[in-house]
Parts: sequence; C-alpha cells; structure tokens
Amino acid sequence: MKNKNSKEQNPMISKVNEEERSFAIRLMQHLVVPTFVLDPECKVVIWNMACERLTGIPASEMIGTSDHWRGFYSTQRPCLADLIIHERTRDVNDLYVWNKNIEKVPNGLYAENWCVMPQLGTRRYLAIDAGPIYDETGRLISVVETLRDITLQKEAQSALQDLAAKDGLTGIANRRSFDQALATQWQRAMRETHPLTLLMVDVDHFKQYNDTYGHLAGDECLKRIASAMANTPLRAYDLVARYGGEEFAIILPEVTAAGAQAVAERIRAAVEHLGIPDTTSEAGVVTISIGAATANALIGSTPTQLVAAADAALYQAKHAGRNRVVTVNFGTPQDPVR
Ligand code: GH3
Ligand code: MG
Ligand code: MG
Repeated sequence: MKNKNSKEQNPMISKVNEEERSFAIRLMQHLVVPTFVLDPECKVVIWNMACERLTGIPASEMIGTSDHWRGFYSTQRPCLADLIIHERTRDVNDLYVWNKNIEKVPNGLYAENWCVMPQLGTRRYLAIDAGPIYDETGRLISVVETLRDITLQKEAQSALQDLAAKDGLTGIANRRSFDQALATQWQRAMRETHPLTLLMVDVDHFKQYNDTYGHLAGDECLKRIASAMANTPLRAYDLVARYGGEEFAIILPEVTAAGAQAVAERIRAAVEHLGIPDTTSEAGVVTISIGAATANALIGSTPTQLVAAADAALYQAKHAGRNRVVTVNFGTPQDPVR
C-alpha cells in the first residue's frame, strides 16, 4: 500500500507537515513557561529555553536522554511526566510529599513541590503540570511537562500563615494557635479517652525585672525563656505557646498527671539553668512558676475549665513561693506536688 504522507508520494503535504512541526517546536522552545517533552520511551525530545534557565542545564545535555530528573532532583526519581507514561499516577502522593494540592486534572496530573535545582543550588517551589498527547488513533505520542516557579507566592503564603499563627516577639505559637490546638486536642482526648495535660507558665516577679533592667531586656528575657521551653525535648505534637504577656501555655497530649510533673519540672529547671541574672530574685536568676492540670475524659467539661484548673494550680505555685511546679488532676484535685 502506498504511504500518502511519504515525501516521494506527496512532497507538498510533507513540506507543510515539516513546517508545522518546526513551527510547533520553535513555539515550545520560546515559551516563557519552563517546559520539557518526553516521548513514550521517556526520552527528552524538547527541553525549552525557559527550562534551561530554570535548571541551569542546556538542552544539548538532555535531548535524547532520560536524565530530565537531574534538572530538579539530586537523586534519581520519576517526574510527573514519567508517572503518566508508566501509568503510575497513583504514586503521585508518595512522590510529592510537600504537595497539599495534588489533583488529577482532566487529561493529566498537577502537583507542587520544593525542588533544589542540583545545577544551580537554588531552592524553588514549582507548580507542575503534565499532560499526555495522543495521536488520532489514541496512541500516546508524548507527554508535556510545564513547571511554573511559584516560590514567591509560596513564601508570601508561608509568611502570612506565620503571621497569623506565631507570636511576633518570641516566634513560638501565639494565643490563636493555642486556642485552636487546645480545642483539637481536647476533642481527640475525650474521643479516645486519653489524658490531656496543660501547663500554664508564668515568669516570676517579671514586673520587677522590667523595672530593674528595662523593657527591652524584659523582651530579650521572654525570647530566651520561650526558646528554652520550645527546645526542652518535647514530642512533636506537644505545643508551646505564648498565652499573653509573660505567660506561656504548653499542651501535652496523652500525658498523665505523673508525666506532667516530670515534664513541667524539666521545663522549670531549663529556664532556671538559663541563668539570666536577676539580682532582685531569691534564686539570683529569672525563674518561672508552673501550674499543671491533667484531664481524664470528663464528660460535659470544657477546654476552658482545663485552663482554669491549670491557672488555679499556677496560683498555688505562686503562693507556695514561686520557682516551682504544682500539678492537679482536673476534676479530682490532688495535694499540690513540689
Ligand atoms: P508574679 O511573680 O506574681 O507573676 O509577678 P509579676 O511581676 O511577674 O506579675 P505581674 O502580672 O504583676 O507583672 C507582669 C509583667 O509582665 C508586667 C508587664 O509589664 C510585663 N510584661 C508583659 N508582657 C511583656 C512583654 O511583652 N515585654 C516585657 N518586657 N514585659 C512584659
Ligand atoms: Mg502574669
Ligand atoms: Mg509573672
């Protein structure tokens, strides 16, 4: 059978096809969006100029190879386009761990990822689209992957999230984050009948410290206390927050009253060992008092009541002489423990 498109049979059609093809390639090469194209064997057929700029790797090093991953990662792994070619689209969740916006867009894949461009050493947050291209018979002929650099948007979004969730002075969680976390952990503890401990922490004689050393020194002191508390080995889901002024709150999910005493004592000691001089205090250094309350699945009680119980324990710690820990079992008050 004669081939209609062969050059010998119809040079005019062939010439038009060739022109269209080179036009399409030129278009892709000059596209401002970084783009590469793979053939069905995962070989790079196009690596456009914007992709060269983004990765620092020239097309001449990529065309004809399956090394496209080298543009974005330092160890070999599939890119989105590979997942489409190998029909492994389900693996996208495991491979794009940063990505909270994985979507199976019509006819392709979308993901976002932090990439450290191995060639340039730059860290970029990329919005990645990969789309298959089929011929008239439905056969896959290539996959186009585009990479938009949305680092600035991502950083702006993170900065806004930090602003909303973190305390401006100390950088730890703010009151808003604390309220949210306490509500969440409370519900979890009640549902799973696990204990939940709350520590309320207050700097001793801090008014006097400010009066003696000045407000700026007071700010510095709060920062050091916050970071000492946050750096005291706690579990990943414990939360250290600035509750307000010179008061801090620490949420310890699944910690019993006995455990609370031990953790609180470690935190108290960590702050004392900072050794921030305070000639007006009994210890000669800045100290804190801690009230700890542990809730054990109390039907009908509220997080606010847990805060009130920890506050009452803190009040006892202050009255018992400061620089100490008092723990209470929420609902069944115990004798104060020093
Ligand atoms: P106590 O041992 O009973 O807790 O005494 P205290 O002096 O620490 O308690 P008081 O509530 O009388 O004083 C708290 C002080 O904390 C007063 C306030 O100026 C200071 N303070 C609150 N927030 C900040 C802050 O952000 N920076 C500084 N430098 N001081 C603060
Ligand atoms: Mg106070
Ligand atoms: Mg105080």
